[in-house]
Amino acid sequence: MGATRAAFGFLRSVLSSLPMRVLVISDIHANLVALEAVLEDAAGEYDVVWCLGDLVGYGPDPNECVERVQTLPGLRCLIGNHDAAAIGDIDLGEFNPDARAAVAWTQNALSSGSLDYIENLPDRDEQGPFTLVHGSPRQPVWEYILDRHIAMQNFRHFQTEYCLVGHTHIPVVYRRDSGRQTESPPDYCHALVLNGDRFILNPGSVGQPRDGDPDAAYALLDTEALRWQHRRAPYEVAETQRRMDALDFPTRLIVRLSQGW
Ligand code: ZN
Repeated sequence: MGATRAAFGFLRSVLSSLPMRVLVISDIHANLVALEAVLEDAAGEYDVVWCLGDLVGYGPDPNECVERVQTLPGLRCLIGNHDAAAIGDIDLGEFNPDARAAVAWTQNALSSGSLDYIENLPDRDEQGPFTLVHGSPRQPVWEYILDRHIAMQNFRHFQTEYCLVGHTHIPVVYRRDSGRQTESPPDYCHALVLNGDRFILNPGSVGQPRDGDPDAAYALLDTEALRWQHRRAPYEVAETQRRMDALDFPTRLIVRLSQGW
């Protein structure tokens, strides 16, 4: 009992030093129109921003997105696999042909300032009871948590109560209580209360959603009330597509934005 109370007191002291209202974004993928739509949609509802990586790759505005992200309040930002590829840290053979074309274009387009910024991004961060990674706590840059079996294996690879991930571009909630493990789709109407179970949470993708909904995905996290809320923000997909078309991007990459796949 004493130990439980001490643990609770410790958690409270850690939490009280944390920001209360966090905008959680991931996988912007150089889509500035989508990023601005999310920032406008969430305006006034957050104090700091946590970004789970993949600032660049696929989209037409890599430098603009890298610069915009740096202006956000209290930013914590991680490196994603496309960011690592853009600075030459990953073999392009790891990507499919369309993604490879986008990475090659991005490598040429990035300014020295953007390269510097990306090179210094960490692949893992901890903020109080939250571990932050791009892919998974087991393999922070590369592994996709695509189902609850992969999620179950990953609960062993972080020490905090909660882990925030991106990378799959699909918003989802994995929950583990004493021995049981569940997977739930995002609930856009009700906040999820982080009630003492362990969670792996994915806010979805700002710049290239893959769950069949083209609207930009993100989440709001209240670290005091321990509430997690999935959100969607419509944006002008056609404007991003027009910019990609003007740069001769692969058709499949342009079309997929309006399909949300
Ligand atoms: Zn991504």
